[in-house]
Amino acid sequence: MSETAKSRAATLAHLRGVKLAKGDPVSLPLTMTTTFHLPGSPAGVSQYGRYDNPTWEAVEDMLGHLEDAPSVAFPSGMAAIAAVFFALLKAGDRILLPSDGYYTPRLLAERFLKPLGVSFDTRPTKSFVDGGFSGFRLVFVETPSNPGLDICDLAGVARLAHEAGALVVADNTTMTPYGQRPLDLGADIVVAADTKAPNGHSDALFGHVASRDAGIITAIREWRKLSGSIPGPFEAWLVHRGLETLEVRFECMCRSAELIARRLTNHRAVKSVRFPGLEDDPSHNLATTQMERFGFLVGLDLGSEARAEAFIGACALIQPATSFGGVHSSAERRARWGDAVPPGFVRLSVGCEPVEALWQAIEASLARG
Ligand SMILES: *Cc1c(COP(=O)(O)O)cnc(C)c1O
Repeated sequence: MSETAKSRAATLAHLRGVKLAKGDPVSLPLTMTTTFHLPGSPAGVSQYGRYDNPTWEAVEDMLGHLEDAPSVAFPSGMAAIAAVFFALLKAGDRILLPSDGYYTPRLLAERFLKPLGVSFDTRPTKSFVDGGFSGFRLVFVETPSNPGLDICDLAGVARLAHEAGALVVADNTTMTPYGQRPLDLGADIVVAADTKAPNGHSDALFGHVASRDAGIITAIREWRKLSGSIPGPFEAWLVHRGLETLEVRFECMCRSAELIARRLTNHRAVKSVRFPGLEDDPSHNLATTQMERFGFLVGLDLGSEARAEAFIGACALIQPATSFGGVHSSAERRARWGDAVPPGFVRLSVGCEPVEALWQAIEASLARG
């Protein structure tokens, strides 16, 4: 991790502390209220729970510090993505989505943007810049793509998209602000599902939008206030607690993922491995130029549905579950949701277990297949 990332992590732990008055609680209070004491003129203070809440604001402070950009919290990653689309697009706009990224933004575009007059095209992440971006109002990238772990050149996309007059939105869910910094590489907007590693304990859905463009942030805040797409204070409180340990968890997960990916490439039961940190991975050269860490997701192809399911089911230290980024390692066969990956492709999310114990469990399960 870079020195700036380390100093960002160090000050994150004290963001709240430096603002405390004598006698204030050191830990963040959970503020469950719909309304605030408001006699007379309502200006300048908290008014109503759909407009603001001190627990979300504390999370937004942390996210803003991590992103180095104003950040707006949402009740899920998809709520954050939907906010970007609905706050910034209008009839007649055309947008570009990755064909191999998280599938729900494509479904949202098909089902709800199209009838409002916003059309969309899709392109594979690994050839995302091919063809340029002329005619698009907004270009949405997800790198590495989930689940295939292909990569596109964020700075290159930003340069070409800006020349074409398009906004660049990066879904940075798989990497977190510690692993990759799309705004520093030229993206206009970051969206992320804090449901994953930032919360990290598989017990709250959450999301955020970050941008250094004041006009964009104002529109996103207005969308949240008027549409009512607000996070619950309790979820915000959980995410606040999760963010306090994100750096240590993320470091541990990335380190373990790299070690496990290397060992998997040499295992006879494994047909192929995708991990951007492996020198012979198709994503590696580009990954080293734009990623601060290589992430904690490993893709492995075990050759058949039966072998993949047997591996996931028999491993004592892998939770069979969808989603990723929790303290527990988890895995699933993504073809079961219709993702365009081979039937034996497993997305492994490496957790915080001591790595040698995790490797032994993985090896034992592969040996059984
Ligand atoms: C999970 C995920 C989302 C959606 O997040 P939710 O909190 O489930 O709405 C969006 N993008 C990516 C890349 C994801 O993995």
